[in-house]
Amino acid sequence: MEPEPLEPLPEDWARALCVVAHPDDMEFGAAAAVARWTGQGKDVTYCMVTSGEAGIDGMEPDECRRVREAEQVASAAEVGVPVVEFLGLADGVLEYGVPLRAAIAHVVRRHRPDVVITGNFRDTWGGNNLNQADHVATGRAVVDAVRDAGNRWVFHDQLTDGLEPWGGVKAVWAFGSPLAGHAVDTTETFEAGVRSLEAHRAYIDGLGWEDFDAREFLEGFGRQTGQRLGVAMAAAFEVFPMGWGE
Ligand SMILES: [Zn+2]
Repeated sequence: MEPEPLEPLPEDWARALCVVAHPDDMEFGAAAAVARWTGQGKDVTYCMVTSGEAGIDGMEPDECRRVREAEQVASAAEVGVPVVEFLGLADGVLEYGVPLRAAIAHVVRRHRPDVVITGNFRDTWGGNNLNQADHVATGRAVVDAVRDAGNRWVFHDQLTDGLEPWGGVKAVWAFGSPLAGHAVDTTETFEAGVRSLEAHRAYIDGLGWEDFDAREFLEGFGRQTGQRLGVAMAAAFEVFPMGWGE
């Protein structure tokens, strides 16, 4: 059976905000796409809800937080992203709810993006490969927070010092989703995506995956997705339109 074709993502936007649960989340699915967009002169900012401090079994959280924040900043620089914000919520135990929505709505109001990017927040990656709880909580909160950010009377206490509601987000895009219907050509920026993942050296070593090869890993997904878009390499996204009646 032929794989389902994917639609190209629109690129008529100027500013994206990427909100994910952990350092390394962007690099396992979206970094090469980000490199393409920053190369086009678009403005992309990263926001990490946690610092991934519970991610390395053999490293205490305080040390791990420092290591992983530094790796994420270096990783972002590889794909042209100058700013990484860390919200500092607790890794591994994120809960979907009003406090998480409020924290993310505040970031959306400050950055005023056209597009918000997050990771897959479906229950699985496809089949029975379960997603992780922080990813599900974050993605669900992101779509709601984007709406909250536009409503003056939701989290109204945030609107001080000139901060205004922001209802300009056209869509939320989730990479890694098994229900992705769109993709972007990453053929030219694939290597930047590899370097961006390789920047998470301590994390990858800490996982204890024998012989993990960032290039090989990303190439498998990139080629499969590329085939569905009619290019050599691509990254897939599930699109959630955020305007009404669009
Ligand atoms: Zn993660």
